[in-house]
Amino acid sequence: MDLGIAGKKAIVCAASKGLGKACATSLAREGADITICARTPETLEATAEEIRALGGGSVNAIACDITSEEGRQMILEACPEPDILVNNAGGPPPGDFRDWDRDDWIKAVDANMLTPIFLIKATVDGMMDRKFGRIVNITSSAVKAPIDILGLSNGARAGLTGFVAGIARKTVRANVTINGILPGPFDTDRLRGNFQANADKLGITVEEFAQQKASGNPAGRFGDPAEFGELCAFVCSAQAGYITGQNLLIDGGGFPGTL
Ligand code: NAP
Repeated sequence: MDLGIAGKKAIVCAASKGLGKACATSLAREGADITICARTPETLEATAEEIRALGGGSVNAIACDITSEEGRQMILEACPEPDILVNNAGGPPPGDFRDWDRDDWIKAVDANMLTPIFLIKATVDGMMDRKFGRIVNITSSAVKAPIDILGLSNGARAGLTGFVAGIARKTVRANVTINGILPGPFDTDRLRGNFQANADKLGITVEEFAQQKASGNPAGRFGDPAEFGELCAFVCSAQAGYITGQNLLIDGGGFPGTL
């Protein structure tokens, strides 16, 4: 299927690795001209080269911290009129809420709630004027089924999801959609990083713990980031103009509810 986004301009945040990289790859392969960011210049440039080698849309890489005002300015200067915006940032650390102080909460809310909100604010009116826009927020299955040790993530992402629910119906008439994609466990550095503490507690290796977790998922495995990227590209497609305000779970069936 031709997704109808060749030549569209896309910002993909936090995209040198994992899910962001997969979204950037799928969009570029569809011919979108992408601007990607991450904080570590070496990894970012290596990813940009990898995606360029696919021969799709152009790739512009901006090394910045997307959770800072300065970082957001840098990416918006590089791509001032995006047609597609994929919001993403590193997730907050796991832990016990008793140990988190105000600074921990502000950091989580900044990264996983306010950063996407400010990027939406900066881009949505232009998209509406141009009568095309696709905004995807990478959140988490924790929005639907909270994960106890990820309280900072549960809280901050629920805030973003509530905000988006309110505006996604205000933009769709101008062919601008805003949706969340909620990953369950995907095989990325982030996922494996979270396993270390659990494996240590059980006295087993990260690989052993990972195998136990993967076999507990109805699919019997973790998600492949490429599967996430392809869903993201479809949600950003010309064909997806009637999907807005949705929270699309992609978790191998991990969430046990009927709906
Ligand atoms: P990942 O593999 O660790 O990749 C994170 C990417 O974001 C890297 O490219 C990283 O590069 C970049 N990044 C992090 N903080 C940044 C910042 N402040 N500014 C710019 N770039 C930044 O993580 P992932 O698994 O893809 O996760 C992506 C998001 O999905 C996270 O919020 C995570 O919590 C959420 N999520 C993931 C899963 C999963 O199973 N993987 C499940 C649920 C939710 P630099 O470090 O160089 O900046």
